[in-house]
Amino acid sequence: MAVRIGVIGTGMIGRDHTRRIQQVLAGAEVVALSDYHPAAARAVRADLVPAAQVYDLGEDLIAAADVDAVLVTSTGSTHEAYVLAAIAAGKPCFCEKPLATTADGAKRIVDAEVAQGRRLVQVGFMRRYDAGYVALKQATGRIGAPIMVHAAHRNPTVPAAYGTPMAIHDTLIHEIDVLRWLLDDDYVSARVLFPRKAARAHDGLRDPQVVVLETAKGVLIDVEIFVNCHYGYDIQCEIVGEDGIARLPEPMAIQTRLNAMLQNPILTDWKDRFVDSYDIELNDFIRAAGRGTASGPSSWDGYVAAITSDACVTAQGTEGEAVAITLPDRPALYD
Ligand code: NAP
Repeated sequence: MAVRIGVIGTGMIGRDHTRRIQQVLAGAEVVALSDYHPAAARAVRADLVPAAQVYDLGEDLIAAADVDAVLVTSTGSTHEAYVLAAIAAGKPCFCEKPLATTADGAKRIVDAEVAQGRRLVQVGFMRRYDAGYVALKQATGRIGAPIMVHAAHRNPTVPAAYGTPMAIHDTLIHEIDVLRWLLDDDYVSARVLFPRKAARAHDGLRDPQVVVLETAKGVLIDVEIFVNCHYGYDIQCEIVGEDGIARLPEPMAIQTRLNAMLQNPILTDWKDRFVDSYDIELNDFIRAAGRGTASGPSSWDGYVAAITSDACVTAQGTEGEAVAITLPDRPALYD
């Protein structure tokens, strides 16, 4: 039987995930929609899923008897309450990042899930499902023990409302999760270094910045965040091991030889870069939800990402001094 899904938050990503479930993936159907503005949910219903019930309150959607599993795709500050309600109802829940806007909030979710005694939450860290990163993880096993990682996260531009801490909470958060997963390691400290400000960076935004993370196994990671790079959306990752180097492959692109030039196009939109991984992560959620559980990136991963993000934001204000990252013991549920 198809997993009956309710979607809370029908903005950009909620609409896209609804399309994915209705038009791309098998094994699930959207039966309920909710948004702070019911008109937004009704618009998604009209465009994508005419039979869905629209709820004014996300809590009512979670409680509905015909909703088996929940997608939380609303504004980040609302995630914690909805995920806790889904756990309390015993319903599998896919939550877009961030799991919560504070580490304490993420810890409350971990505690609630542990009390339930089974995995119910998948966090939307979709890079773990990207074919390039999956291949990079396999290659990492062949290059000897990792020593260093060089990574970059570049966006062509960002809106005026994007401030310096958002470079961590909204942008670096994906590297924080995927690099920890690639290395099977945890962070112990963070530093942030700022070169001169790029001319295109708006007032109030320090851009670019370089985050240096150290892991428990002694790996040193540098991540360049440059969100006004202008030329494209560019994700780079290179792992330096004892015996060799493994690099994240470039996205597939047609190479041309034309007008005395050899050229490869570069993507400009993050949605194009990770479109396949969104499909695969939701497919994973649907399969696990059909068994009444969750897999993939966990509440624990969301909690660790929140602790690490907070340390990085603190490090933005310490003029290059390292900020310690201390994690509590991991509950056995997440082994
Ligand atoms: P968005 O377009 O602003 O959509 C969020 C929707 O949630 C809006 O319609 C918003 O209404 C609604 N909302 C606000 N408070 C609500 C509440 N209490 N209950 C129900 N709905 C509520 O944002 P988005 O770009 O889709 O992002 C949504 C989340 O997904 C964010 O946490 C974002 O970080 C995450 N995200 C993740 C990725 C990824 O790569 N994994 C990509 C994009 C987004 P109002 O507009 O009236 O506030």
